[in-house]
Amino acid sequence: MKTNNILLKLAAIAQQFKYISIFILFISYSLFAQQNKIVKDIRKTAFENQIDSLRAIYANNKTLPNQYELQCLIALSFYPELANTTINFKQKHIQTTMASRPPFRVLFQADKNRSYNICINNSKKLNGALLTNISFNEQIGVIGHELAHVVDYTHKNKWQLLTTALRYIFVPKYKRNLEAQTDITTINHGLGWQIYDFVDYLMNKSTVSRKYKKHKEKFYLSSKQILEIILKSTLYSEPAFNTVIIKP
Ligand SMILES: [Zn+2]
Repeated sequence: MKTNNILLKLAAIAQQFKYISIFILFISYSLFAQQNKIVKDIRKTAFENQIDSLRAIYANNKTLPNQYELQCLIALSFYPELANTTINFKQKHIQTTMASRPPFRVLFQADKNRSYNICINNSKKLNGALLTNISFNEQIGVIGHELAHVVDYTHKNKWQLLTTALRYIFVPKYKRNLEAQTDITTINHGLGWQIYDFVDYLMNKSTVSRKYKKHKEKFYLSSKQILEIILKSTLYSEPAFNTVIIKP
């Protein structure tokens, strides 16, 4: 709670003195990072009372859906490099749980004005899993995966984004490699157990269609492969990180 109060005060000061806001935000990230541990199961009850401090740091330039605001903010807290990136979460009918495709409009935007869309499926006709039907921990995992795509886009210029989009559509091996790299980025940002939980649920415990599972098997890492990467990562080597569960 002490840290929460400090973060709120820092955010208030930052609003009054914009010229030092970047410095204040940098300190805020450091303070929050101390709380932001790798855990197997992120519980809603452990973060509900932190939503104001999370908003103060991570909601800048973001359009967040009411229903998933806390999950998005927690996932964003694992990606401090996206703190000022414009990201719009939108609910619409798509063919998968969530998606963050390279945005074609960036070809016509100045780099400093770039914005990215992350779509959340809200159609009941879906073959796969709806975000609303999976656990809080799994929701953070799948949001973390989409944020990893955005990180990749921020490192690419317009023409690299265009070729990424085209190769993703037309070259199956490229799509598989990109999705694997995206899961690795998610794991390296500390959300390994969350993406593991999501993939394990989707492939081994859910009632999603055989056709959808086949698509996932073709283009995405399996839960077993994700687990192998987690267990090899030094980030997850501290035994406490693998067993600690945030208590409500
Ligand atoms: Zn993906």
